Amino acid sequence: MNWEPWTGCYKVSDGCTYCYFYGLHAKRYGQNTIQKTDKFDWPIRINSKGEYNIKGDKILATCFATDFFIPEADEWRAEVWSMIKSRPDIEFLILTKRIDRFEVALPDDWGVGYNNVNIGCTVENQELADYRLPIFLSHPIKRRFIACSPLLTSIDLTPYLHGVEHVTVAGESGREARICDYDWICAIREQCMDANITFWFKSTGSLFKKDGVVQKVNPFKQGSLAKELNLSIVGDKKLF
Ligand code: SF4
Repeated sequence: MNWEPWTGCYKVSDGCTYCYFYGLHAKRYGQNTIQKTDKFDWPIRINSKGEYNIKGDKILATCFATDFFIPEADEWRAEVWSMIKSRPDIEFLILTKRIDRFEVALPDDWGVGYNNVNIGCTVENQELADYRLPIFLSHPIKRRFIACSPLLTSIDLTPYLHGVEHVTVAGESGREARICDYDWICAIREQCMDANITFWFKSTGSLFKKDGVVQKVNPFKQGSLAKELNLSIVGDKKLF
């Protein structure tokens, strides 16, 4: 289940180059404009029976059509943190390419982090891993994961896996997608195995290279092909 308190975004790093949410599509959908949605207060909205619209015991993926830490939302974020705190029965999943803005508008009572917040730091190449992950690890966060998405090069995550629960990997989608190499994925999987953390190969992306051959993968098959390759190590963990 997704919750988008605001929408709109713009490029912050190489992985954004062909993002659906801005660029060509922005003209049509107005996605360069950062604006609150009509679901802004959704987690705390009450129905006619006086109950929360969203029942508890759920994972709510937040800001997948924007970035939680985008500067334009700084003035709204305190209210969103307060809603998140008031729903300890929901696990909020926040994925960001702007981890260097994590502390802006962080609540005073954040302490070592809220139990129900799982923050994912996205890294698409080694340079961004070396920049973002030390920052990510320096913040007080109780639950962390790394998303190599879209994976654009091989990445050595080894120095950064302590204190991280999980790594997700996906290739790039879309007409202009860049190649994602099976060997890069296997290498990250090995790193996760050595660190004893879970790993999910979510999607091959549109151009997938394996055994020296690049194959074009239909958008509807990218997830199922990744699954067929049977690389994920998830144990009894719920996949997000
Ligand atoms: S941060 Fe995410 S949503 Fe924003 S432009 Fe980049 S890829 Fe798209």
